[in-house]
This record gives sequence, C-alpha cells and structure tokens, in this order.
Amino acid sequence: MTDTPLASPEHAMERLAESDHEQVVFCRHQPSGLRAIIAIHSTALGPALGGTRFYPYASESEALADVLDLSRGMTYKNALAELDHGGGKAVIIGDPHRDKNEALLRAYGRFVESLGGRYVTACDVGTYVTDMDTLARESRWVTGRSPAEGGAGDSSVLTAYGVFQGMRACAEVRWGEASLRGRRVGISGVGKVGSKLAAHLIEDGAEVVVTDISPEAVSAVTDALPQVEVAPDEAHLLRSRIDILSPCALGHMIDDDVVAGLAQDGSCQIICGAANNQLATPDMAEKVAAASILYAPDYLVNCGGVIQVADELQGYSESRARNRARQIQDTTAAVLSRAMRDGATPDAAANRLAEGRIEAIRGLTNILLPRS
Ligand code: NAD
Repeated sequence: MTDTPLASPEHAMERLAESDHEQVVFCRHQPSGLRAIIAIHSTALGPALGGTRFYPYASESEALADVLDLSRGMTYKNALAELDHGGGKAVIIGDPHRDKNEALLRAYGRFVESLGGRYVTACDVGTYVTDMDTLARESRWVTGRSPAEGGAGDSSVLTAYGVFQGMRACAEVRWGEASLRGRRVGISGVGKVGSKLAAHLIEDGAEVVVTDISPEAVSAVTDALPQVEVAPDEAHLLRSRIDILSPCALGHMIDDDVVAGLAQDGSCQIICGAANNQLATPDMAEKVAAASILYAPDYLVNCGGVIQVADELQGYSESRARNRARQIQDTTAAVLSRAMRDGATPDAAANRLAEGRIEAIRGLTNILLPRS
C-alpha cells in the first residue's frame, strides 16, 4: 500500500466524466486507516449489488480504475442474472493480511450504511464471510454473511453450480446433448470455485484434468476426487487434449498465446469458466470464435454467487437460490442462440441482452405510483 493521497476531486471527476457511473464515493476514516471507494454504476434495475475487494493497490488511481470497471461489470452480470439489482462494487485500499481490523471494517460498514441501501455489499477478493458479519454490525446492506448470522455463506457453492449449468448449455450447442459425460475438461485454478466445479463434472461423468500454482489446492482436490488428473502447469493443461477449458483462477487468461496453444492442440471446442474478465483484450472474443472455439462469457456463467447473495436479502433459501442458478443454463442457451442468429460473438450477444433488459426496465419508473 502506498501513501499516495486520495485521488484529487478534479482527477476523480475526470475519470467519472469518461465513465457512465451514477455515483462514486470516496471514504476515509483516519483513526482506523480506512481508505475505500464505493462505485455505483447503475441502479436502473434496483439497488447496486457487488462485492468489496480488499487489495493493496499501488495507487489511488489504480484502485479507482478497478472499482469503475468492476462496478460496470456487475451491472451487466446482475442484469443477465435477472436480478432486481443494479451494479456496484467497492474497494478497500490496503493489504488485507496487514491492514484489516475490526475498527476499519466497521468504519467501512458505516459508509455502506450511509448510502441508505443504494449499494449492497458482499465478499470479493480479500474479504470473507466473517468480514461481512463484522460489517453487518454497522449496516443492513451486507450480504454473504455466515449462515450462523442468517447469511448465505460461501458464494462459491452456487458460482460453481452455475458455471456447470452454463457448460451444459455450451455442450448442447456443440455436441447436441446437455451433458459432460465422456468429455475431458481442463480446469485452471482449483480454489473455492474450481474444486467444486470439478466435483460436479466428475458426478456428470466427465474426465477432469486440473492445474494450480498452489500444491495445497491441487492436493485438496485429488484427496477428495482421486480420479482427477493433474497437469504440472497451464502450458501442459492446454496440450492435454481437453474438450473444454475452464479458467477458474485469475482474469486475463485468454490471450493470443493461449488461443494459439489450444488451436495447435486442436481438441478444445469450448471455453467456460468462473474467472472474471477472462479475455485479456476485448478483441479476443473474435479471435476465440475464429479458432472455432465457443466462448461462454464469464459474467454470464459465473453469476451463481451473486444470485446466492442477492437471495439473502429475502431471508436466504438455498433451494430458491439453487433453482435460480439452474436457469443459467437457459440464459446461456438464449445468448448462444442469439449470437448464432445475429452472427455475433457470444460476448456481444450477452452485452446486448443485458442492455436490452436494463433499457426495458428503466422505463418503468415513468409510471407514477402513489406515495406509501
Ligand atoms: P480462489 O482464490 O479460492 O481460487 C483461485 C485459485 O487459482 C487458487 O487456488 C490459486 O492458487 C489459483 N491460481 C492463481 N493463479 C493461478 C495460475 N496462474 N494458474 C493456475 N492457478 C492459479 O478464488 P475462487 O473464489 O475460486 O474464484 C476463482 C475465480 O472465479 C476468480 O477469478 C474470481 O474472481 C471468480 N469468481 C468467483 C466467485 C465466487 O463466488 N467465489 C464468483 C464469481 C467469480
């Protein structure tokens, strides 16, 4: 963490002017050392929902750029998930291992509360269910709390389930059957989501090969699922005759080298995984399509987690949330079919579908309702 001051108001307004965000809030509480930015991209569909990332950004500008991008992505993800939520996200600037403490989290919780429900938070990189429990002592607008506190718990459960449903839709398009039986799936990153996805795939009769930079993560999977194969690294995974690549580590995995590697191997027909922002650059959507690989947009198939935490606001029902996450299969099928109809990439088709829903629902506020 650097000691650079918060971005100047002029700088923030410049960034904001370039973006289409509704509101960006800079939060500071000197006694606890809190420095945070909450970005609300859109409330057209309802209160903005998205996690809080706790990360040692190199500068305030980097944090601002990240929160603007992430909150915009949440607008699209929540729209496609058919949630009554707009998009928002927050970042806390600092090293979670060094800087996180009760006072800092509660100070942040008070800023979330001060927005009166326009922004609802959840876990993200560097924040966990126990942190959400702490925030909830100061704010009503917190999800992803522990089940003991009435929360939905770890959101990777339905994220993995949703990715699996999205993969089934892709399989139906490519092979005429919504099943992964007999298919070979390569998972890069077997943390919370990737490991649970591996279990769904094995249960469905797929062969699974995994890689992870963490030997502990690999052992945890192979201990639980001994039939899982291990590739020593990503390069080997790409060359291991996989039918489907599932990026479940960090973003930006899909670049020219990866597409060239998959094309050389010649077996991969689908990319479908949980990682956010998988395409290293926007033009990768066309390059993947040109290599005859079907790409399931990440924000379309990884929305199971946000479905899970959104449900918490109604009093969490696991079965209701799971039913909604199951619909990711139908939404993915609809996006892929629209892409084929329009001759567009799945990415472009997903964006259009999300924007269409936002515009249609935005117009509803023109109907005046009596004051309650
Ligand atoms: P996680 O931190 O539990 O797991 C990520 C795993 O990837 C770790 O085991 C890590 O060692 C591994 N990894 C990191 N770099 C790697 C590399 N270069 N090659 C191979 N493995 C590597 O995170 P998670 O919760 O499982 O999330 C995985 C991805 O899915 C992230 O991109 C996250 O943003 C996204 N996502 C997660 C959720 C959720 O509910 N957890 C929801 C939506 C999207």
